[in-house]
Amino acid sequence: MSGQPWDIAAVRAHFDFPERGRIVTNNAASTQPPRELTELYRSLAPGYENVHRGQSSASQAMTRLFEDAHDTVARFLNAPGRRCVALYRNTTEAINAVMYSLLTEFRDGDNVVTTTLEHNSNFVPWYALCRDLLPRFGRRVEYRLARFDPDTGELDLAHLASLIDARTKLVCCTGASNFLGTRPPLAAVRALADASGYAQPNGEERSYLLVDGAQLVPGTFTDVQALGADYLAFSFHKLLAPFGVGVLCAREHLLESSLPFLYGGDMIAEGRVSADRVEYGPLPWKYAAGTPNILGAVVSAQALRLLLDLAQTPERATYFQTERPIEPETVRSAMNRVAAWNRELTARALDRLAALPGLTVYGPRDPARRTSLVAFNVAGHDPHDLARALNEAGVESRAGCHCAALAHRALGLTASCRLSFALYNTPEEVDYAVDVLGRVIAGRRRPRGEPAARSVTPHPQQIGSPS
Ligand code: PMP
Repeated sequence: MSGQPWDIAAVRAHFDFPERGRIVTNNAASTQPPRELTELYRSLAPGYENVHRGQSSASQAMTRLFEDAHDTVARFLNAPGRRCVALYRNTTEAINAVMYSLLTEFRDGDNVVTTTLEHNSNFVPWYALCRDLLPRFGRRVEYRLARFDPDTGELDLAHLASLIDARTKLVCCTGASNFLGTRPPLAAVRALADASGYAQPNGEERSYLLVDGAQLVPGTFTDVQALGADYLAFSFHKLLAPFGVGVLCAREHLLESSLPFLYGGDMIAEGRVSADRVEYGPLPWKYAAGTPNILGAVVSAQALRLLLDLAQTPERATYFQTERPIEPETVRSAMNRVAAWNRELTARALDRLAALPGLTVYGPRDPARRTSLVAFNVAGHDPHDLARALNEAGVESRAGCHCAALAHRALGLTASCRLSFALYNTPEEVDYAVDVLGRVIAGRRRPRGEPAARSVTPHPQQIGSPS
């Protein structure tokens, strides 16, 4: 199975967007939902009920589906179990949950180390903690930023090592940059965090590691135990399921000992609330105050099963909506296939973009060292104009700083244009996008009104199975 070529036509047949002639190359922002997921959402609606809050069969069935969704997420990440999986709205909320959980544990003189590769979601919460929140409690905690090499886009490990010390409670690092594409060596980061000697309140002597997996998990086999991440956050809307769910997968003992982020109903122990004493519920519900996004969670977990199918048996459901257990080896081989396809698209984009005059690509040159996106600028062209020209030709890209403000600043930039790929993109789409850019650079932009992408976009049926 793993040796078979990627059947792009069979993969695309699961999606409705190609019928609109869309060339979706802004996948680092959000991916498209396969038809099965929207249909599943609709099919669940007649049985909808709240969870943990009713004796009806509907409530019990929904509760089972909702709880099972946590198991599916845990199995996909090879986490020990559902007790490690807290669901939030997105990566940003999951990272904020960690920040608020640890807020009271920081001691005067502690620090948090993060990097200039981060998305604002993994910088601004730490900035706010150190500059806005803890000072109000009279505590001084600083954030430190590890730099990256401006030429290669690689994280400067020596600089990171110099910032981590015995007062570093937490190291926060992206799994993959959404601007440079860089994939920091997380094992090395883990080793540095382990060696810090920081005295955690529970007696552990090491810094915790938070990995922002927003760009990592959708295209890379991610085994939280092998990764050694204490906290891993990611969003389902970048993983085929735009239904408002994000994941915080954390070590059980940390979730057990930390304070929850939100307080209220459902996160409390049944019958253990009185005027002068409240006990919190068992994991992971301690981290699930209020009515959760129930259908979103159920459908998002099924997105992981569907992803396994798209990668391995796109012509039939093997895992989607089945009880078949998810084994780490299955996830590994499926995600390796996704990664290989993404790498092929990225390598093609890098090769072809390099031939365009005046175009600068940021980040690692080697496609094996980056995630499936390419950000660039063209001398003499505003990146927003490039994105608009691409859009006029039917190619969806993104211009701006992509919330990677620190990395743009480090390179003296305010913006870049970015193409980002997913498992349903084709080499023909990559070529077409690069050709459009080539025409824009050569000043041969298609005048408005002339037939654009729809007539030239490879129709799904015309796309073969390029191996
Ligand atoms: N981290 C990275 C690396 C990202 O690319 C993104 C989304 N662009 C986020 C965090 C934030 O994700 P969300 O908006 O889903 O919270």
